[in-house]
Amino acid sequence: MKKQHVIIKSIRHITHDVLQIDVEKPKQFRFVPGQATEISIDKEGWQNEKRPFTFTSLPHEDYLQFIIKTYPSHKGVTNELLKLKKNDELILHGVFGAIAYRKEGLFIAGGAGVTPFIAILRYLRSKNKIGGNKLIFANRTKDDIILKSEINKLLGRNFINILSDEKVRGYSHGFITEGCLKANMTEVHKNIYVCGPPPMMDAIEKFLANLHVDKKTIVKEAF
Ligand SMILES: Cc1cc2nc3c(=O)[nH]c(=O)nc-3n(C[C@H](O)[C@H](O)[C@H](O)COP(=O)(O)OP(=O)(O)OC[C@H]3O[C@@H](n4cnc5c(N)ncnc54)[C@H](O)[C@@H]3O)c2cc1C
Repeated sequence: MKKQHVIIKSIRHITHDVLQIDVEKPKQFRFVPGQATEISIDKEGWQNEKRPFTFTSLPHEDYLQFIIKTYPSHKGVTNELLKLKKNDELILHGVFGAIAYRKEGLFIAGGAGVTPFIAILRYLRSKNKIGGNKLIFANRTKDDIILKSEINKLLGRNFINILSDEKVRGYSHGFITEGCLKANMTEVHKNIYVCGPPPMMDAIEKFLANLHVDKKTIVKEAF
């Protein structure tokens, strides 16, 4: 795909460090829920600084949406995104991604690793096919949980939150453990979808191997 310039329609914080950015959708633009694109900022010195971000809007919608955790300390692209406003321009460089929905399963996300699952769950809701899908979502604190109330509505009791840095009533405390995975996997969960930072991914893959989960049933992407 050749690069495409798109205008920002809206940009706002949805948590203390996460932006939701809606941009115009180029004509004939195609992707499947779970896929990502490389984005750069159309501003001097930043046009060639590309970073991958996942579409959280649905393919049939007439805009593209991204949900982006920002890291001011990296002084990189996400820090620059914090300075943008409506009508500024981004550049999209191609569509790719390892995560695509197969069948019902257990989704395991850490932080911004939830974005491909947001796209997939929104897509399943649009088709009335949420079924027994379940999400285990690991974050540092309650305030870091992205789209908590929307995911609650989508999944109800199948939305499990774990907080590592905060003890809060009604939330599990600590990291995702082998026991936690075992307790949350049932007959329905024939596919396992994992997305998050590399150390979390390594730990989860080890646990899944210990639980004799067939590697072929695991769909994963490190953020
Ligand atoms: C397929 C895919 C899809 C993704 N989708 C999303 C998404 O939808 N939403 C989302 O939020 N994220 C997503 N990510 C992650 C996202 O791409 C990164 O968070 C983003 O690239 C960070 O860009 P950055 O320029 O701000 O910082 P970086 O590129 O991480 O860092 C810029 C520079 O800062 C320095 N640096 C790196 N780490 C640190 C550190 N810990 N402390 C200080 N300095 C540091 C380095 O010198 C580095 O070159 C996705 C990743 C992949 C692989």
